[in-house]
Amino acid sequence: AQVWRCQVGRVPLYLLDTNIMENHPDERNVTGGLYAGNIEDRLRQEIVLGIGGVRALTALGLDPMIYHMNEGHCFLVALERTRALMKKHGLDFKTARELVRASLVFTTHTPVPAGNDVFDIGLVERYLRPYVDEIGVPWQEFVALGRKNPRDEGEPFGATVFAIKNSAFRNGVSKLHGEVSRDMWRDIWPHVPREDVPISSITNGIHIPSWISDEMAELFDRYLGPKWKEDPDNQKVWERIDEIPDAELWATHQRRRERLVAFARRRLHRQLASRGAKTKDLQRAMETLHPDALTIGYARRFAEYKRGLLIFRDIERLKAILSDRERPVQLIISGKAHPRDNEGKAIIQRIIHISREEPFKDRVVFLEDYNMNITRYLVEGVDVWLNNPRRPMEACGTSGMKATANGALNLSVQDGWWVEGYRPDLGWSIGNGEVYDNLEYQDHVESKAIYDLLEREIIPLFYDRGLDGLPRGWISMMKKSMRTLCPVFNSNRMVEEYTDRCYVTASLTLKPLVAEGYKNARQLVKWKDTIASRWAEVAVLDMSHEGGDEVSVHSEMTIRAEVKLGAISPSDVSVRAYYGTVDDAGNLSAAKDVLMDHMKEMGKGVHLFETRITCDTTGRFGYSVRVLPSHPSLIHPVDMGLICWA
Ligand SMILES: *Cc1c(COP(=O)(O)O)cnc(C)c1O
Repeated sequence: AQVWRCQVGRVPLYLLDTNIMENHPDERNVTGGLYAGNIEDRLRQEIVLGIGGVRALTALGLDPMIYHMNEGHCFLVALERTRALMKKHGLDFKTARELVRASLVFTTHTPVPAGNDVFDIGLVERYLRPYVDEIGVPWQEFVALGRKNPRDEGEPFGATVFAIKNSAFRNGVSKLHGEVSRDMWRDIWPHVPREDVPISSITNGIHIPSWISDEMAELFDRYLGPKWKEDPDNQKVWERIDEIPDAELWATHQRRRERLVAFARRRLHRQLASRGAKTKDLQRAMETLHPDALTIGYARRFAEYKRGLLIFRDIERLKAILSDRERPVQLIISGKAHPRDNEGKAIIQRIIHISREEPFKDRVVFLEDYNMNITRYLVEGVDVWLNNPRRPMEACGTSGMKATANGALNLSVQDGWWVEGYRPDLGWSIGNGEVYDNLEYQDHVESKAIYDLLEREIIPLFYDRGLDGLPRGWISMMKKSMRTLCPVFNSNRMVEEYTDRCYVTASLTLKPLVAEGYKNARQLVKWKDTIASRWAEVAVLDMSHEGGDEVSVHSEMTIRAEVKLGAISPSDVSVRAYYGTVDDAGNLSAAKDVLMDHMKEMGKGVHLFETRITCDTTGRFGYSVRVLPSHPSLIHPVDMGLICWA
């Protein structure tokens, strides 16, 4: 493969390309398209990306300390790095894998099972067996790393599973998506409660200077100073939004809406012309939309879960809303369907069809070939950004953040980032985050919620003008939204979180493992093997508490556990009390976890552990005790797969 270098600002982006003369025509086409047609082509692409990617960096003389895998497609980075470390430093597989895991960050993006690649073992074997044999890992051991349940011979090979098992840092891209991911992958840690599944979340953010209009950037320069670019996650900087005079902010926004309308007309004209439309229709295209009307934007990939047709569900009601002469409302929609997603294509067809009929003809425009240029015009010019995915399918959703930074207000389902961003004074929420079994009913309720919000809140607020023609209430909400959301949902905050929580922690973990010719890494592997071989003896023999079964609020209570560790030293485990309220089904909920102190050895490998907990609230409580391995180099002790519950 050849490597292209593309300079993106200060960041070099390397692109792999198999289209070279020396390759067989089949191979030349491997990097020919973003979404490969079938699963085999996909695996071929992923081999080029994962294994080829690491080799390309090596060929370029680059030797990164930390790798970050974005989505499961590059899962083979983990294996190729392991192979390279083994070869270069004469390490065994397990030791090299420890080092790779400690320095690998994995971000998952897809809450939909179908979005996570799964391969038949036979297919994986055909492509990877010689490579795995060369590394010297037994085939079954390798395959087990791609299975949620390593003992299930029938389970196919999951790219995401492999990525999770070979990285010590894993995260989803919003708080809700973190929860969804912990749920989706919890089978990998069968004895661990859902909330303790070691997948965290780092909410995405946008690079604000890349997504706001020049006009808005000028306003920010003038009133916020240069720090909005350099230090955008600083709350103080954004508080100065209030210093922008209402009239000036509104004039800036109006100008961008006019630009959007002009852009939409040109695109519509071009779309119609390319289909050989009549002159009359072409002329009309240039007069469609109104530069002053309340403009709602909606743009996305038209996957089914995004529900592109939701706002058209009650067509008569939408008609009434859009064709109000006093308070006009218009809709600009853009999107693309996956080339093989016929359902997505049908949704687009339907929208285009509606947009050609009266009275939608002047009020609804569909822009084809959604791309970043269209996004820019849209997010810079709309008043309201609409997003109505089926919760919790939207992992994060960043276009709403782009719109926010330009002063648009969000009207969105409580999904992805909007769960964290929404407040009643910052925008609107379609429903309250309910999840429905009956999808038809859900669409009914949520489309109704959209119309209700438009009729009762959004349209009245937008058209509530003073003598000076300014919608003061609306502008005040724009300012609050920008002031509150911009300092959080930006890429500086996001990269800082990755740096602090992943990259720095990884390098601090890695350093001692690498020192003295990988001495500690080898010892860690040996320690893990020893603990695993002795774990069968571990048992919680008894647990008890002091002070009877009724305790008063705010009092303290002592919990004791007698734990059999056998040949394992108490310093190699952590014994933890796990306590919380007991629900109707007798399960612990909202459980907390505290480390218990080692008090004394009671003989025959049995030890006494103790801790004090405070009883903060009234109600029924329960506790349990669990034992986990403990070692300074373990980032997530549960990853060892050893846990003993009372
Ligand atoms: C921002 C953007 C996306 C991603 O939008 P989400 O809201 O995160 O789904 C997709 N395509 C284009 C062209 C974009 O600009």
